[in-house]
This record gives sequence, structure tokens and C-alpha cells, in this order.
Amino acid sequence: MDRQRQFVLRTLEERDIRFVRLWFTDVLGYLKSVAVAPAELEGAFNEGIGFDGSAVEGYARVFESDMVAKPDPSTFQVLPWETDNGRVYSARMFCDISMPDGSPSWADPRHVLRRVMADAAAMGFSCYVHPEIEFFLLKDLPQDGTAPIPADNGGFFDQASHDTAPHFRRRAIESLEAMGISVEFSHHEGAPGQQEIDLRYADAMTMADNIMSFRYVIKEVAMTQGVRASFMPKPFPKQPGSAMHTHFSLFEGETNAFYDADDPYQMSTTGKQFLAGVLKHAPELTAVTCQWVNSYKRLVLGGEAPTTVCWGQANRSALVRVPNYSPGKSASQRIEVRSPDSSCNPYLMFAVIIAAGLKGIKEGYELAAPAEDDVWSLTDAERRAMGYADLPNSLGHALELMERSELVAETLGEHVFDFFLRNKKAEWEAYRRQVTPFELKRYLSL
Ligand code: GLU
Ligand code: MG
Ligand code: MG
Repeated sequence: MDRQRQFVLRTLEERDIRFVRLWFTDVLGYLKSVAVAPAELEGAFNEGIGFDGSAVEGYARVFESDMVAKPDPSTFQVLPWETDNGRVYSARMFCDISMPDGSPSWADPRHVLRRVMADAAAMGFSCYVHPEIEFFLLKDLPQDGTAPIPADNGGFFDQASHDTAPHFRRRAIESLEAMGISVEFSHHEGAPGQQEIDLRYADAMTMADNIMSFRYVIKEVAMTQGVRASFMPKPFPKQPGSAMHTHFSLFEGETNAFYDADDPYQMSTTGKQFLAGVLKHAPELTAVTCQWVNSYKRLVLGGEAPTTVCWGQANRSALVRVPNYSPGKSASQRIEVRSPDSSCNPYLMFAVIIAAGLKGIKEGYELAAPAEDDVWSLTDAERRAMGYADLPNSLGHALELMERSELVAETLGEHVFDFFLRNKKAEWEAYRRQVTPFELKRYLSL
């Protein structure tokens, strides 16, 4: 048996861990879990655990529903907050999903991302990412449509005098670090109750797994502090929404492939072509990076979120920022994509953005000039005159663009592409049929 498997089995025994949670992710980005007893694990490593794929969003049609989850021992971590009398009682591993004949399931988001990373590897690159994750801490999560109440009244970078936020962030970071997820920065974000935690960069697959763990840890820790966490893109109409700005870089061996000391932006041709690919394909990818009806309430002018396809260095209104290069840190050269929100499927989001960047490199796309103006203050006509495309402004519009995208179809694969469009069109249609309080207030007297 290989050493990673041995390590898992030994740790379970030594720490007397009772449950192993096998985790995987559905197409919409919901975490799924099946708990097995340690005694079952050797079999799970060899044959996997069978489950009914038709019961999981996007996985299989009823007549071909048997699927197999195989745990990936390199993702083994004990869950530090699941304790009983001071003793940890469970651990988790992410799984790869396959069909009963052993071939990888086309519905598994890990598999979608793995294909793109293999494509990058064939070009000589490994892909690194670093997300800045924003979310809200709320007093409760009312399900009846009433507005939630933020857990604190802090603002940007506030060291809130109210205990909840700093205390929560310390607990959350301890739990994340105990699971091997390194945190780089954390602070209070702009809106009451809003927090940001930035994870230290890792390869794209590890990071997508880490983000799934992150959401779970944050929700669990919030509950231990008597509050609730929400990754909804835009819970409050008059406050900023929750972004997941993501920094991307490619490495060739130990060398950052985006770095060139002689360029004014310290960006290599590879970096510029990657960036040009992300910009060119941004509108058609937006349904994946911003996948909910509510995501488009965040992407509005003046809301600190991007609405226009352009890039800049310091420009926070741009879709992509090339953060200022710090001399002597060539390894940190990267681009920051600002459209994704905190409730996207991280595997699919990384896959479509990296695929767009790789396409830019393969086809040698030209990078447009940077936008150093505040693009939020331009009129529509000015933006058009400058040649900036707009991001779609509703889920319906985003789906129309995605449906025509060869890049997204190829990257997601036919099965995920079709499922995603079907599911999301139904969501858009259900939303369109609502008559909202806004309309009643505005039109009832007509
Ligand atoms: N919360 C903002 C958004 O939704 C981003 C704020 C920031 O620049 O960190 O895009
Ligand atoms: Mg932020
Ligand atoms: Mg940022």
C-alpha cells in the first residue's frame, strides 16, 4: 500500500478517530459528504464507495446512476473542531468520482479542473492561485425573505470594539491552520458584519479543495460563536457584496512565467497573453464565476465590483488588476481577477479562467492598453468609445453568452455544460416569474 494511504490508516488508529468524512462537490458547488467507519477505508481506497449519482445535482441521469467515490489520501485532514471530551472524532478526505467501469466521471468538478491543469502541464506550466474570500457574519439566517442582521457594526479594517468579529477570525484561522490551510491576511471588510480572509497561494486543485473546506469551517466556527456565516454574493442592497478576488500565476518549474524585469509592468509576454485571454473571454465565463441570480446585484456600477472588461495596475474598478510588483519578489508576479463571487464553484471558476488564459497564450492574443481611469465614472458611450466590453448584467444575459461559448463548452465538457445551462436557465426563469415588492411599490397605483 502506498505511503499516503498508510499514513491515513495509522493516523486514524493512533488518534482513535471514529468517522472519516468522504467529501466531494456537486456541479453547483455544494459540498457533499458520506461518513465511513475507519474499518471501511481500506476497501474505499481500493474499490471506492458506491453511491447513487442521480441524487446529486448534475451527476447522472437516473438510468445510469451508480457512481463511485474514491478518496484521495493526499487530502486527508482531521477536523479539529469536531471534538468530544477534548478528543477529535472525525477526519475528511476529498474524493475523485468515477463511473462503475472506473473511468472518471465527467460530472466531477475536480475532474474538470484536473483536465485544465493537465492542459497547462502539457504547455510546461503549473497553475497557482490565491483567493481573497469575503463573507458576512450575521445574527441569524432568516429563511422567510426578511433582511438578516449583521453580527457587528464594523467597517473596512476596523478593529471592532464589539468582540464577535476579531474573536471569530482568530478561532476560524486557528481551525483553518490546524487543517493545513494557511491564512495570509484577514480583516474586517467594508460592510457591517463583512469579513475577509485571504489564503496563502497553492496549486489550483489544492486551493479549490481548500475553499470548499474553508466555507465549511467558517460556517461551523460561526455557529460556535453564536452567529451565522453567509457567502451569498449580495445580501444587502445598500452595502458591497462578497467577492472572491482570485490571483492567478503560472510557473515553469521554480520560475514565475508572468515575470519580466524589463517590462514596465514587470509582465512577461506569457503573462500578457494570459491576461488578454482572460479579458477576451470574460463575458462568456461570467455565468460560471457569478452563477446565481443574486450575483448580478453585486456587479453594479460604483459598487466596488467590476462591470467592465478592462485591466489596470492600481485601478480597482477594472476587471483584472496587476498588483504592484514588489522589487525582489519576482515569484509573486500575478494577475488578480475581481469578478468571481464567494459562492461560485471554485473548481469550475478556476477551470474556465485558466482555460481562457491558456487560450490567450496558445493563440498569442494581444493585450489592450491598461485603463488607468476610474471606469465607474465613464458614461456608457465613453466606455464603448474606449472599446471596453461590459460584463453581462443578469444571469439570463450571462447564460446567453455562455451558451454560445466554445471555450466554456470545451472546458466544462458536454455533460457539465448542458447540466449547468439547464439548471441555471430554470433558476433564471423562476426568478423572472416573481412579482417583487419593488414592483408592487412602484406600479400598483398605475
Ligand atoms: N466587496 C467588493 C466586491 O464585491 C470588493 C472589495 C475589495 O476591493 O476588496 O467586489
Ligand atoms: Mg476585499
Ligand atoms: Mg482584492
